[in-house]
Amino acid sequence: MRKSFDIAIIGGGVIGLALACALRREKARVAVIDAAADIPPATDAAAGMLAPSFEVRDGNMADTLYAFGAQNLEMWPAFAASVEEEAGASIDFRDDGTLGVAFDDVQAGALQASIPPLAALGARAEMISGDEARRLEPALSPSVAAALLAPDDAQVDPRKLLAALRRIVAETAGPIIAARLEKAEKQNRAYGLVLSNGERLAADTLVLASGAAATAGLIEDIEPPPVAPAKGEALALAMPYGLIRRVVRAPGAYLCPKADGRLVIGATEYRGRDDLTVDDAAIAGLRRGAAAAAPATAELPEGERWAGLRPATPDAAPILGRVPRGPENVFFALGHHRNGVLLAPATAQALAREITGGAPVTDLKPFAPDRFDGGGHG
Ligand SMILES: Cc1cc2nc3c(=O)[nH]c(=O)nc-3n(C[C@H](O)[C@H](O)[C@H](O)COP(=O)(O)OP(=O)(O)OC[C@H]3O[C@@H](n4cnc5c(N)ncnc54)[C@H](O)[C@@H]3O)c2cc1C
Repeated sequence: MRKSFDIAIIGGGVIGLALACALRREKARVAVIDAAADIPPATDAAAGMLAPSFEVRDGNMADTLYAFGAQNLEMWPAFAASVEEEAGASIDFRDDGTLGVAFDDVQAGALQASIPPLAALGARAEMISGDEARRLEPALSPSVAAALLAPDDAQVDPRKLLAALRRIVAETAGPIIAARLEKAEKQNRAYGLVLSNGERLAADTLVLASGAAATAGLIEDIEPPPVAPAKGEALALAMPYGLIRRVVRAPGAYLCPKADGRLVIGATEYRGRDDLTVDDAAIAGLRRGAAAAAPATAELPEGERWAGLRPATPDAAPILGRVPRGPENVFFALGHHRNGVLLAPATAQALAREITGGAPVTDLKPFAPDRFDGGGHG
């Protein structure tokens, strides 16, 4: 007999797995279908910065996205503690802030100009001198003239997070089925799922949490959401203990120190690219950017380089909720672009409530899938 579930989540990146954990609290029978072996999760490629202060962009979703980012940042300490406790493993969560460095007056002016809009949104951020920045981070270059300190930002190790969430989901929420969903076919109100490993399942409700992967034709009767890949390359250097202590963002690169001794340097961004090749010149550019901020990094050996595909949307905000003009029982949990790790806790909590019909905890309307109706996306 075919296995049957209340809810099938397509995609086992940070979003799909965090949602499976949250649904468990709503007492739903869940399966996660994940093609990580064929379609590597962006989560595996992420640097793990939890940094809404540096991700407020122009555009009409900037304030909404910042507020959602700040809400998530507030949830992170408790989320990290419960993940670590349940998985019995560290995910390297640290809340020691971000330092954005400037080499000249123009760059310092741009950082300074970001403070009033941040303050208006309730974020703490202050300009400090180059010397003060070097007191916090002794490896910074003498050329660093000033810095913006965002003391509330945090970071996590996304690979450890993914491993911990996998363990929690498999042990307490439902199976993680290592296969690609090839087709979801309507069967009365439910869906029949055809998987790449030959298995067939049935699910009452579907959640598409498939990151940047193409979804056209995947679910019967559903128009594909406007999510496109935005490729990013990064690398890790092997760092002596404590060389860089907190996240440093410089004009040409960011530097994220991890507890296992890796210094993650990122990242490029190419909209619309969906290959995972890593370009030597791009890596050299990131290394130059890192060395300009912290010269000692120029001598550090490279441990690894990689590329990942961010799930980008036309307005840089995620697409969360019931599909527009479609069946009642299909939901999107997509398009977290540069901030999927940051935005996982509230996305999971709020969507779990929406899917199970519980009292709303967060207003997801600004992220509703139907906001692109009327030709707002390409
Ligand atoms: C270089 C880089 C740096 C980044 N740095 C940060 C950062 O510092 N902070 C931050 O918050 N975010 C960062 N991001 C963004 C973050 O990685 C993403 O927003 C987030 O990982 C998206 O999570 P997801 O679960 O939606 O997708 P993914 O992690 O991509 O997971 C999607 C999963 O769906 C599976 N899948 C797809 N199609 C199917 C199918 N048909 N059947 C079954 N399974 C399927 C895939 O195999 C995959 O495992 C970064 C991204 C990159 C590339």
